[in-house]
Amino acid sequence: MAKKQFKAESKRLLEMMINSIYTQREIFLRELISNASDAIDKIYYKALTDDQLVFNKEDYYIKVTADKANRTLTISDTGIGMTQEELENNLGVIAKSGSLAFKKENELKDGHNIIGQFGVGFYSAFMVADVVTVISKALGSDEAFKWESRGADGYTIVPCEKDAVGTDIILKIKENTEEDQYDEYLEEYRLKAIVKKYSDFIRYPIKMDLKGR
Ligand code: ADP
Ligand code: MG
Repeated sequence: MAKKQFKAESKRLLEMMINSIYTQREIFLRELISNASDAIDKIYYKALTDDQLVFNKEDYYIKVTADKANRTLTISDTGIGMTQEELENNLGVIAKSGSLAFKKENELKDGHNIIGQFGVGFYSAFMVADVVTVISKALGSDEAFKWESRGADGYTIVPCEKDAVGTDIILKIKENTEEDQYDEYLEEYRLKAIVKKYSDFIRYPIKMDLKGR
């Protein structure tokens, strides 16, 4: 499939986030874990009214895996997943959460703080990753799809393989530069601290495989 373009507003927000200051970057993990938790909630609530669907608590969790050799950080969930259409609609438009509208009203005087305070969502992944890959299989579907983007230049969606329902978000962590450090987002102690700081209240288990290979 041909590469598709993000909507104009999306591009602006994406640029702002990519250029966000160092101390705010860590919130990308909060955003991705909160999306994973929302995706599991969706199955949970569906199971309340759907007799065909049983919610076994032990089947639902979030997993964070760091692979230093490949510079990837993966956030997986066993949540409701996304169809091809949902990948397109949900990840092709940035700032549905309203943070962009707020930012405009406030003339971007303190844009950096706004990033820290609001649910800026999925695109915050681009603060730390040069490539974001989303592999997802929706509940009730036997097809899986891979959404991939390097940021502002657009995204692709192709069919792929995935056994279980749910979503894997794979971040290719940026290389360190003289001004900016990214290696820390592959480090066990740092990831654990970020999860503790922002995601302690999440009601599903957050498993971590951070020893590095
Ligand atoms: P918000 O969470 O405020 O809706 P996000 O930018 O964080 O905004 O996410 C956009 C949308 O993408 C979500 O509303 C959801 O539909 C979808 N999404 C993101 N991550 C996942 C995931 N792990 N599983 C299922 N859907 C997801
Ligand atoms: Mg979100």
